[in-house]
Amino acid sequence: MLSTISISSRQRTELIDITSEVQKAVNNSQILDGICVIYTPHTTAGITINENADPDVRRDIIAGLLHLNFEKVDFSHMEGNSPAHVKSSLIGCSETIIVENGKLLLGTWQGIYFCEFDGPRQRKVLVKILKG
Ligand code: ZN
Repeated sequence: MLSTISISSRQRTELIDITSEVQKAVNNSQILDGICVIYTPHTTAGITINENADPDVRRDIIAGLLHLNFEKVDFSHMEGNSPAHVKSSLIGCSETIIVENGKLLLGTWQGIYFCEFDGPRQRKVLVKILKG
């Protein structure tokens, strides 16, 4: 089963917690055991899993990525958003999570984030749950 999560990012760089939306997609699939693939079909965004207990971690990931010194890089891409393309490739555009007894097998402190690097924009995340 394939689900789509629609996202309206509000900032240029932003991490948006999508854990509950992904769990909802798992619930709707009625698949109890399998694999959940979370994928974003954009070239200036990403998907990552990290701590969702302390909101400072989310802020620090953004701060760390923004600290990468792109000013000295001689980018050619005419759109002018090469830093966003690089961040997208660093983070990656998908994650895979085991589903057991209808639940995403995330650690206690883990959440799933959509990462915006060239917002604000309308975005989408695809969620595919495979039985197995
Ligand atoms: Zn571009």
